[in-house]
Amino acid sequence: MRTTCPYCGVGCQVEPEVQGGRIIRVLAPDIPPNHGALCVKGRFGLDFPFSKKRLLYPMVRESRNVPFRRATWEEALDFAAEKLLEALRRKGPEGLAVFPSAKTTNEEVYLAQKLARALLGTHNVDHCSRLCHSSSTAALSRSLGGASMTNPLEDIWKTDLFLVVGSNTTETHPVIAAMIKKRVRQGARMVVVDPRYTGMAEAATLWLRVRPGTDLFLLNAMARYILEAGLWDRAYVEARTEGFAEWQASLEEYTLERAEAITGVEREKIALAARLYATTERAGAYWAMGVTQHTKGTATAQALVNLALLTGKVGKEGAGLNPLRGQNNVQGAGDMGALPDVYPGYLKVAEEAARKRFEALWGVPLNPKPGLRMTEVFEAIPEVEAIYLIGEDPVTSEPHQDHLKAKLSSLPFLIVQDILENETTPFAHVVFPAASFLEKEGTFTNTDRRVQRVRRLLDPPGEARPDWWITQELGRRLAQALGRPWRVYPGPEGIWEEVRQAIPELMGGITYARLEEEGVRWPCPHEDHPGEAVLFRERFNTPSGRARFFPAPYAPPAEPPSEDYPFTLSTGRVLFHWHGGTLSRNSRLQEAYPELKVEVNPKDAARLGLQDGEPIYVVSRRGRIRAKAWVTERTPEGVVYAPFHFAEAPANRLTLDALDPISRIPEYKVSAVRLEKV
Ligand code: SF4
Repeated sequence: MRTTCPYCGVGCQVEPEVQGGRIIRVLAPDIPPNHGALCVKGRFGLDFPFSKKRLLYPMVRESRNVPFRRATWEEALDFAAEKLLEALRRKGPEGLAVFPSAKTTNEEVYLAQKLARALLGTHNVDHCSRLCHSSSTAALSRSLGGASMTNPLEDIWKTDLFLVVGSNTTETHPVIAAMIKKRVRQGARMVVVDPRYTGMAEAATLWLRVRPGTDLFLLNAMARYILEAGLWDRAYVEARTEGFAEWQASLEEYTLERAEAITGVEREKIALAARLYATTERAGAYWAMGVTQHTKGTATAQALVNLALLTGKVGKEGAGLNPLRGQNNVQGAGDMGALPDVYPGYLKVAEEAARKRFEALWGVPLNPKPGLRMTEVFEAIPEVEAIYLIGEDPVTSEPHQDHLKAKLSSLPFLIVQDILENETTPFAHVVFPAASFLEKEGTFTNTDRRVQRVRRLLDPPGEARPDWWITQELGRRLAQALGRPWRVYPGPEGIWEEVRQAIPELMGGITYARLEEEGVRWPCPHEDHPGEAVLFRERFNTPSGRARFFPAPYAPPAEPPSEDYPFTLSTGRVLFHWHGGTLSRNSRLQEAYPELKVEVNPKDAARLGLQDGEPIYVVSRRGRIRAKAWVTERTPEGVVYAPFHFAEAPANRLTLDALDPISRIPEYKVSAVRLEKV
């Protein structure tokens, strides 16, 4: 039976063959988005639901000083509801937070944010996008009025130039990387901006090896050069944008000379990249965490938006602005309103019309004040007294791990709802065992806005239940105690029907029946609509219908290298693993990539007398981890690269928790460290 891969945002369609309660192989149908292709995670990484670490029954405890005890669902749900209500009585709505998961279905996310808003009265709702693409969301929303890829993945076949910035696509979105590389072999050109020699850099026509954290300067310098050289699209700028003059004035300092000094990239290469991008009509920009995970993440994403507007690249086939979303349903989680400032459909919490729409639908008065972002919620503990955490492992994924652990230790009440035990489970008071993607129905939305089906192939083990069922039952208890309405649905399709009713302009035409064969892309306002492929062809989704330029001023990273910590640490992912490693490290992929390897440039290794494979300590101002040195030219001199999948050697013990002022995303890509021999 066909379902959707639970790893990355490509949303590959998979057909796992199950025999004797085990997956014996995984096939891929010849339909979009992957047309039969899969990466190693989709092919060999889907067996984590059979892990011995599965959570099989509810568990509760009064305090962290006592061990968990097994509970019935009735008991655990009653206990959780009672504790949430206590926190609500003591602290009011601002004292609670709900974090839905980008790993759960659209229906489950919708229900979790509804529980927070309609029952607890709080907009303290957020998800892991805060840690990956919240900066892209901020920049795209304010400039274009939309927070997603503007173009479909099929447009890769129409693209003549790819501008890939800060995306190790080969390892993080392998099927998309294969498509882009094939298109490059067909004659398209590719400019890659990345400090590391990734698989994309290897396939590039032009590789710009920027110093970490300086992409923003480079992108602004490209814009300035394009303006000076007269390569910009004046007609497009005049007809479709606003804010141009103010933005143009902000570019004064971004000369090629200064760009060379700051980024380390030769000025001729920067000028060539700018010329290639500006003069190729079908040029698409693609980016990921290398752009976003900085204290200047929003500004860097904004610089990409500005560049695309300047050269008239948005609203056209084969071009556009394309943030590659990480988690399988991170696009869907945002669409469903798992954000503190927007309802489903990105309708603003602060706007009266949006509030009235959801008050009418849910039958309750709603809080007009936007909530806290995830990173702010953790800082607000213990003023925030209770958190309902679904399918996330912040101990592994948040920066400055020891600080976060201290915060969680002082949190009066935590619910962890997950399929597997993880590093955050020990901080919980209630553990709800959830069903995996193989054990439930629903939909995920991939990186190019395609809503696709998730299908139940197996029964959940033990007493695990789908996330939507758990949230619904918890909501039922809260609603009863609070005297508020709470709809009970027979299953995920009923919830989806409410989503269609809530945001008809986006999802009105997408029915489960239409998703039988293949996914449908939003916006899709009615059932005869095919789903919009290219956004903003005629107008932008802003009040004026025009896109807006915003100045994107450069500032250096928050923690530059120093005498004591002379290296820059950059964190990220590898092909074989996924995010906090909870899924991939409980699958067969663990055998292929069992432990942390930290990339060290050969010149640095020689200076330190380090051999390839030698154990080392990586030390920052916040802590120390032990790893194996991987001596490789992939990383430049002065930079070490550590994937963050390994709980026993957590890269996020080292990372800095400085935040972008707009999106509040942490600066994962630049922390100062030193290397020590073991
Ligand atoms: Fe799964 Fe992404 Fe690999 Fe496709 S590319 S198989 S969605 S991990």
